[in-house]
Amino acid sequence: MALLTRLCTRPSSTKLVGTSLLPRQQLIGGDVTTSTPPITRRFPLILGGRAYISQTSRLHQSSSSKHFTTASSRNTPSRSALQPQSIPSRYASTSTTMPTAEPEPEKSMHTSGARDSVWVHKQPYSAYPKFSPLTSDLETDICIIGAGIAGISTAYELVKRGKNVVMIEARDVLSGETGRTSGHLTNDLDDGYLEIAKKHGKAGAKAAAQSHAWARDRIGEISKQLGIDCEYRKLPAYDVSQYPVGDKKHSQELKELKEEAEYQHELGIETRFDENLTVKGWSGKIDQRGGLVADNQATFHPTKYLSGVLEWLKQQHNFKCFTRTRAMSIEEKGVEILGIGHKSAVIQTEEGHTIKAEYAVEATCVPLQKLSIITQLEFYRSYCIAIRVPRGSVEDCLLYDNAEEYKYVRLTACDEVDDYMVVGGCDHKVGQEETMPRFAELETWTRERFPQAGKVDYRWSGQIFEPVDYMAFIGKNQGMDKIFVVTGDSGDGLTHGVLAGRLIADEIDGVENEWASLYSPKRIGSILKSLPSMVSHDLQINAQYKRFLQSDITDIEDLAKGSGGVLNPKTSKPVAIYKDENGKVTTFSALCPHLKGVVCWNAAEKSFDCPVHGSRFSKEGICVSGPAKANLSPEDEAGKTTQGTAVGAA
Ligand SMILES: Cc1cc2nc3c(=O)[nH]c(=O)nc-3n(C[C@H](O)[C@H](O)[C@H](O)COP(=O)(O)OP(=O)(O)OC[C@H]3O[C@@H](n4cnc5c(N)ncnc54)[C@H](O)[C@@H]3O)c2cc1C
Repeated sequence: MALLTRLCTRPSSTKLVGTSLLPRQQLIGGDVTTSTPPITRRFPLILGGRAYISQTSRLHQSSSSKHFTTASSRNTPSRSALQPQSIPSRYASTSTTMPTAEPEPEKSMHTSGARDSVWVHKQPYSAYPKFSPLTSDLETDICIIGAGIAGISTAYELVKRGKNVVMIEARDVLSGETGRTSGHLTNDLDDGYLEIAKKHGKAGAKAAAQSHAWARDRIGEISKQLGIDCEYRKLPAYDVSQYPVGDKKHSQELKELKEEAEYQHELGIETRFDENLTVKGWSGKIDQRGGLVADNQATFHPTKYLSGVLEWLKQQHNFKCFTRTRAMSIEEKGVEILGIGHKSAVIQTEEGHTIKAEYAVEATCVPLQKLSIITQLEFYRSYCIAIRVPRGSVEDCLLYDNAEEYKYVRLTACDEVDDYMVVGGCDHKVGQEETMPRFAELETWTRERFPQAGKVDYRWSGQIFEPVDYMAFIGKNQGMDKIFVVTGDSGDGLTHGVLAGRLIADEIDGVENEWASLYSPKRIGSILKSLPSMVSHDLQINAQYKRFLQSDITDIEDLAKGSGGVLNPKTSKPVAIYKDENGKVTTFSALCPHLKGVVCWNAAEKSFDCPVHGSRFSKEGICVSGPAKANLSPEDEAGKTTQGTAVGAA
């Protein structure tokens, strides 16, 4: 996403949030950082500046327009589609346990942050399928590393084709970003097809549209075949301006959206432009009416769906899964030249076991390697809230605005009285900005537009990986014959993950796939076109090594209970310190095991995040997001004990 031109035309470095002016120079654990505005907006930036300005609503005036579109006229599914279905489910459980407020010791084995996502409302961690750790060496056809949507979808496609599959997971299944997603399934892709075509040409854009449509629909097919009750349903996606009607930037953005809609239509997507588009339930003062409509998109309950697929996999003779089994190295061994000799993939686990496989698939969200693909990705935090709205009061749709850090909205089932409106956005580079204010910004945005919004029950964040040329990397890793990678979700990682299953299974089976070259990690052309942004990103992240000279706290006493920070004594290496709710202190090395960046405290998720390549560690120092493979190294007995307890707790 990071075009140099876009970096140059970024909005000004201040923004209006609700009515308050927040400077984008913020304190992170004592460190003053001037942030680079993120580049995760949905469509190319033409306008400078960005503001959320209240204006008198014209929504109601527009309701009498002949173009006024009601929810029902857009074939929105009935409300019952949103509620848990009454059909008997073979592979899903629907417990409604609310999460506990304070994380338990083993929380970092269930999920990648201290905060729970809305998905645990209907599918608590205790309802996820359970597996045991690996206790011996193994041989198999394919070893998949990582049990998120990419790993599970790849396992499904390969097992269906009769391959022997072993999946290993460092923590528990679905403990990565899949459990913290917001659940849209769409080929109305975040980056916009006009932008995608600049990097990949029209044929590439068309392949992207077709392949994501396939993945979106594949989830519907599989959930139907396996009888998984997962709220899967088709609905429209709306892209609206970030500016209110009457602002000239609104007209400019609608012009961009119209061009995008026309181009999408040309590519075969069911997209149209509706200048009078309104969304049922958006009755607040801010009127951003008009926009792009992509019909036949979808949403679902991700962890219910994937728990269902895993329950099915568990019953297959050619599938095995081992959790709490961390891969520490994934290598190709042997020699194969012109079909003579033999190479295989060899995986070593943290506990010292070896898995030998014909192929390995790194479905770890980000590859566990030093550089290479890592330099072609940017790392962002994205934030979500789940806010109650009276059941049926907001249209069941996918909604996005066109801001640089765009906001997104969708619904999921809550209870008999309310729906949950999931509102997300406010992305920023990992470890480089304050985390907590993002939730308030999302809430303000929602209440200004949806005055019926009630209580916020869930607030969480997760990690997004943006490839420089917008498309995920799925296929054989650079320089490899036996090791596949899946990475670079670009905010569309659910469909990218499902697609990975098809692309990898086809390649292993020797089936030609017309979409494969678009996603190949070995592609060069589109990457070369992105060099300026890669250089700029590289400079920005290398500047983060400045933290070697900084200290977030001067004394452990300065830390509040339940928080963390980095103490840099200058005379020795910096240490990451966490003080628990009882005042007990644990200390780890603050150096990220990946490339020795100094981690930062993330107050929202109680984690230590590396601002260089985005690796993250729980407050116990457990690695919850790569490219690091290892945990933060404990610096005292308390650190060792806490880490051991977290990993050992079942
Ligand atoms: C807030 C938010 C909202 C989002 N919304 C959407 C959306 O609406 N639609 C969409 O399409 N995408 C969305 N995304 C992106 C999408 O959720 C992710 O891209 C996707 O879930 C990633 O799936 P994955 O299987 O690749 O990775 P993960 O789910 O992260 O799974 C990777 C697994 O690998 C394991 N692992 C890591 N290292 C090792 C190791 N050394 N050994 C063994 N196992 C290891 C991890 O523990 C983890 O369980 C969103 C993301 C976020 C954060």
